[in-house]
Amino acid sequence: MPATILLVEDEPAIQELISANLMRAGHHVLRAGDAETAQRIVREALPDLILLDWMLPGMSGVEFARRLRSEERTRAIPLIMLTARGEEQDKVMGLESGADDYVTKPFSPRELVARIKAVLRRRAPETTEDTVSAGDLCLDPATHRLTAGGKPVTLGPTEFRLLHFLMTHPERVHSRAQLLDQVWGDHVFVEERTVDVHIRRLRCALEPSLHDGLVQTVRGSGYRFSTQQESPAVAR
Ligand code: CA
Repeated sequence: MPATILLVEDEPAIQELISANLMRAGHHVLRAGDAETAQRIVREALPDLILLDWMLPGMSGVEFARRLRSEERTRAIPLIMLTARGEEQDKVMGLESGADDYVTKPFSPRELVARIKAVLRRRAPETTEDTVSAGDLCLDPATHRLTAGGKPVTLGPTEFRLLHFLMTHPERVHSRAQLLDQVWGDHVFVEERTVDVHIRRLRCALEPSLHDGLVQTVRGSGYRFSTQQESPAVAR
């Protein structure tokens, strides 16, 4: 899945250059010339990553980063700071404001794209095209194929995204609300039981190859992808 990246940069030429390179790398780009506009965009829908210029008119990039980190809803958005400053002190301040990485201008577009990929791989692996596997179950986001023991498994698009998210975040329990945010998209108004419907379809698709037990129900909490045996307490 390509990532949606919010670029917050007030210099039109730099904004244009970065944006063109991100789109060439296959990302979807949202742009803002200041933090206030960026805030409105984030309120509408959460991007997968924010590229944030340090020096902005009005609210500074550092201040905006602090605000993002102080709010529950935006706390986990991967964040890369862009800046002309190279001072060690500034770098420390940038990272303290909650940035995942820090890129100093001038940078090569190729370097920036590589840094974005590294942060996404670490923070939002479901947005990368890396193949994920568990045992002999193998999911390839690039070709949109799932195989079990080398044999193709047919999945609907939602089940594919759901399984991709679960496989890239294994062993953790995800609530229905979290799965809706992550798989269906933040601010998409779908009932929580929709998740149950798609989990059921996903298990049905995995059943013939005996992989349905990997998608586990955690009673009262949600769902989890796990290669561990289910304990009786979390039985489906
Ligand atoms: Ca600037």
